[in-house]
Amino acid sequence: MGEAIQVTGMVLSAMPIGEFDRRLVLLTRERGKITAFARGARRLNSPLMAASNAFAFGTFTVYEGRNSFSLQQASIREYFTGLAALQPGVYYAFYFMELADYYGREESDETQMLNLLYVSLKALLKERIPPRLIRRIFELKAMVLNGEYPDMFACAVCGKTEHLKVFSWRRDGMVCADCAAGEKGGQELSETAVYTCRYIIASPIEKLYTFTVTEEVLKELEHLMNVLSGRYMDRKMKSLQILEMLTED
Ligand SMILES: [Zn+2]
Repeated sequence: MGEAIQVTGMVLSAMPIGEFDRRLVLLTRERGKITAFARGARRLNSPLMAASNAFAFGTFTVYEGRNSFSLQQASIREYFTGLAALQPGVYYAFYFMELADYYGREESDETQMLNLLYVSLKALLKERIPPRLIRRIFELKAMVLNGEYPDMFACAVCGKTEHLKVFSWRRDGMVCADCAAGEKGGQELSETAVYTCRYIIASPIEKLYTFTVTEEVLKELEHLMNVLSGRYMDRKMKSLQILEMLTED
């Protein structure tokens, strides 16, 4: 067994393994996404029990093995236990975990994604902003952190930055009112929707959840993000199936 190291991060998922263990996927500042086994975590008096659950955020002491880590102890700062009572809020939280898992890499600095997860779960708990909007803000910002996202700031044809009107599927970016005439296949966006996307892309993570939008603008965002998710991600997240079943009108 290797040396003990301390990592700061969050449990993205916690699968039961064998009779008493759990297999954790942790997103960490220091080592990126890692797999850690919490042995005996499902025994009633295990000190690892509470830490071996999705959403647990804090510092984890792990031993590095050849292919995985082994959890030794944890000091949890935030359990986000209130999420379990939120319906369908908790399913949004599971979806955020799955998306962070999808984007997470070994040995990469995940500080920004951890911050995004933290403020997004807090926003779900506060219930001041509708979870449908929190989801779209999370999706777009996660794309931005991953470095692959559409240009919402300049016309993809002429480069102009004002009067952007249509999101062109072909050009994967905005097209202005003058250039839009020749464009086929796209979504017309209101000025507010364009501004909202720009705000999400450019604003610091801690300022993300400071606004709401009208139902009309939210619908625009939902349509746009559904198409973009299909383009920028090579599979649909499993947790979305449950979420969509629960939130369908
Ligand atoms: Zn143009």
